[in-house]
Amino acid sequence: MNPSKLRKQIIETAIKFNTSGLSVGTSGNLSVRTPQGYLITPTGIPYHQLKEADIVEMNLKGKVIQGDLKPSSEWHFHQDIYLEREEVNAIVHVHSDFATGLACTRQDIPAFHYMVARAGGDSIRCAEYATFGTEALSKNAVTALQGRKACLLANHGMIALGEDIDAAYKLAEEVENIAKHYWISKQSGEPVLLNEKEMKTNLEKFKAYGKQQGTK
Ligand SMILES: [Zn+2]
Repeated sequence: MNPSKLRKQIIETAIKFNTSGLSVGTSGNLSVRTPQGYLITPTGIPYHQLKEADIVEMNLKGKVIQGDLKPSSEWHFHQDIYLEREEVNAIVHVHSDFATGLACTRQDIPAFHYMVARAGGDSIRCAEYATFGTEALSKNAVTALQGRKACLLANHGMIALGEDIDAAYKLAEEVENIAKHYWISKQSGEPVLLNEKEMKTNLEKFKAYGKQQGTK
């Protein structure tokens, strides 16, 4: 995809954060991999005011290579995820209600529903707490994302990864929905967890599901 199209897609998706309720105000951020590094939303600009030229391009050594604005304060974990995970081409980070609420209890989301497998494993981990915008937070996020496409961030929010912006955004929506269902099931009693064998089956089915989507 050409750089202008990518910038447009980033802005459209960031606006969707607000219209869908996934993130309020300027909280949250997103990025997409480029040959030189990645494009990322700038810090502190309301999404509906973003112009293509406002999207910042960074290399994978922490330097801005294009753009006059400061990148999102969370660029550390975007960079480290791209360095660590070559299959990832887009990253969405939001402070959505249910995922963030659960993240404040610092618990993983266990295998209470087959959709947990959508994030790549038998749980959605909650990364250990570290101050926002720090390298420490980035390290904790990369650890929680091992073998996974999404994680919660303690007392903060969530991260979702994808092969493109659409996939990362859809996963963020799904993780928010999973978090909501987990919260509801906790209000209704103690959720019955799916066993290892059942989750293995679900993970296999999602692998096949992913392939089918890719052939469209
Ligand atoms: Zn955040």
